[in-house]
Amino acid sequence: MLRANAWHHRTDSVSSVVVLVGIGGTMLGLPYLDAIAAVMVGLMILKIGWDLGWTASQELADAGLEEDSLSQIREVIGNISGVKSVHMLRTRKLGGHAMADVHVQVDPWLSVSEGHRIAEVVQYGLIDRVDVLEDVTVHIDPEDDEEGPSCAHLPLRSEAEAMLDRLCEGVSCYDQKERLVLHYLSGRIDIDLYLPLHCFASTQQAERLRSEYQNMVRDSEIFRDIHVWFG
Ligand SMILES: [Zn+2]
Ligand SMILES: [Zn+2]
Repeated sequence: MLRANAWHHRTDSVSSVVVLVGIGGTMLGLPYLDAIAAVMVGLMILKIGWDLGWTASQELADAGLEEDSLSQIREVIGNISGVKSVHMLRTRKLGGHAMADVHVQVDPWLSVSEGHRIAEVVQYGLIDRVDVLEDVTVHIDPEDDEEGPSCAHLPLRSEAEAMLDRLCEGVSCYDQKERLVLHYLSGRIDIDLYLPLHCFASTQQAERLRSEYQNMVRDSEIFRDIHVWFG
């Protein structure tokens, strides 16, 4: 508003001069000067209106934060323990405030709750330390999703588990499995299979069991590997 008002005053004074020239022209017997003056005032108003509208729409639409704020954001995130890297940082200004949207890469083997905890620290750390930020959305990545194979084609748990059941149904102890952790990484699923402790008879037997499981998924295009855990 302030800028619009300043422009308004400037336009007023410049157009007054143009109008004076017009009046002077009429008095000197040059009436067309008046018409030229009117056209000039009209053009000035159009130009100023365009400039103001452009700046305002930039602020409202997709203008992001300046480079020094962006590097401050990257620095704050980079100093948080557990953050491996940052990408797809997008910011938007809205009035005097700004929002940020950012992808944060963490260790791919973290639990959901630890990843969530890191996301919270990133979110509140940014809102706390970067004054202009009011709202931050954090997307946790187990790997760099800007390069490398996507996991978008992989089935969710119910379907993946049904596939694994078909592959492993004959392997000993599979029907006693206690927990199945699926890791969607680089276009395939890595499996953590937790078996009860009594399935562990000896190191050799456990190694045999492990290679038996690994053989079952060897030719799968969905699963990459099985890690067997006891206890
Ligand atoms: Zn949450
Ligand atoms: Zn990402």
